[in-house]
Amino acid sequence: MKLYNKSFVPYLSEAEIRAAVKKVAYAIAEDYKDGIPIFVGVLNGAFMFVADFLKEYQYPCEVSFVKLSSYQGLTSTGIVETLLDLPDNVEGRSVIILEDIIDTGRTLQELVHLFSNKNVKEFKIATLFYKSSVYNGEYTIDYFGLEIPDKFIVGYGLDYNELGRNLREVYQLNQDQMINLVLFGKPGAGKGTQAQFLKEKYNLKHISTGDVFRYNMANDTDLGKLAKSYIDRGDLVPDEVTIKMLRDEVDKNPEASGFIFDGFPRTTAQAEALDVFLKSKDMHINATIALEADDEVLISRLLERGKVSGRTDDQDRDKIQNRFEEYNQKTAPLKQFYENQGKFHSVNGIGPIDEITLRLAKVIEEL
Ligand code: AMP
Repeated sequence: MKLYNKSFVPYLSEAEIRAAVKKVAYAIAEDYKDGIPIFVGVLNGAFMFVADFLKEYQYPCEVSFVKLSSYQGLTSTGIVETLLDLPDNVEGRSVIILEDIIDTGRTLQELVHLFSNKNVKEFKIATLFYKSSVYNGEYTIDYFGLEIPDKFIVGYGLDYNELGRNLREVYQLNQDQMINLVLFGKPGAGKGTQAQFLKEKYNLKHISTGDVFRYNMANDTDLGKLAKSYIDRGDLVPDEVTIKMLRDEVDKNPEASGFIFDGFPRTTAQAEALDVFLKSKDMHINATIALEADDEVLISRLLERGKVSGRTDDQDRDKIQNRFEEYNQKTAPLKQFYENQGKFHSVNGIGPIDEITLRLAKVIEEL
């Protein structure tokens, strides 16, 4: 099945979905059949679940809806906006949220906040689908229909860019076609420049950890403040911070056709964490491609870039030297790591930009 340019494979049949809906309805009925709970569906995704749920819930109840919209930029904090607010009659009542899917839990936080000053008697969370492996665990999930793996799904109310909500079954994104690349090389090797061309050519999502850090520094976020002192000196930001940020960036793009990792991994711990993380999503690195160039060429490129971009870590020979030392000590051993996996490829990074792109494309097309 295709939606836009993405292919999806059948995952849950109508019967399996119906069984999961019934499971939630019966469990809630067990606890609430003697009262009159208010069910609050979360639009748009939950509309189909709420309708079928109510057909199975054969006791007195009320129903209402809320609508939230999440906007996510480059940072790891999604901003959630309320588009349709709560009814006024929730005070002193048992409120049960009906969600179509709970994954990381970012929207849930906003929902809980919506009810925080409403003096409800009880507040419970029910979801049809539950991605327990990625849920942040902040609130108890009181009822769920089906635990599912961390894969992108559509159908039965859930969409891919607004398409697919009317499907009776649930489909999973087919990830066999994915290409995930690591661009490897010293600062100034041209990873960012080449990523711009490759992402267009192969329809990939480009994640540059350096860019995400700079975006956060420019916006003075907590992450930006934390990273600043390391970046200013030309040191690496601690692994735990960088690994978490990288995971968030991947999680924000569940329907991507593949990723270009630029500036990540930079340490063996990061490479190992990346493998574990990708495996948990049924993904893997297809190739690590190194852009090779001599230190003298790199230093003059960085100093030139420093004049144009204003990046302070590119303007000072000592900081550049420190970044090279960090690379030699911590990042260079990754060549062996990826060679052991049979994934390491080397490309000459000196010459006209478009010729280097062709060299990279040749490696990718031979994969
Ligand atoms: P870049 O733009 O890739 O040269 O990165 C700029 C700076 O951001 C680096 O010198 C590090 O301080 C920090 N940084 C970027 N990526 C990583 C990473 N994978 N691990 C640790 N620090 C990083």
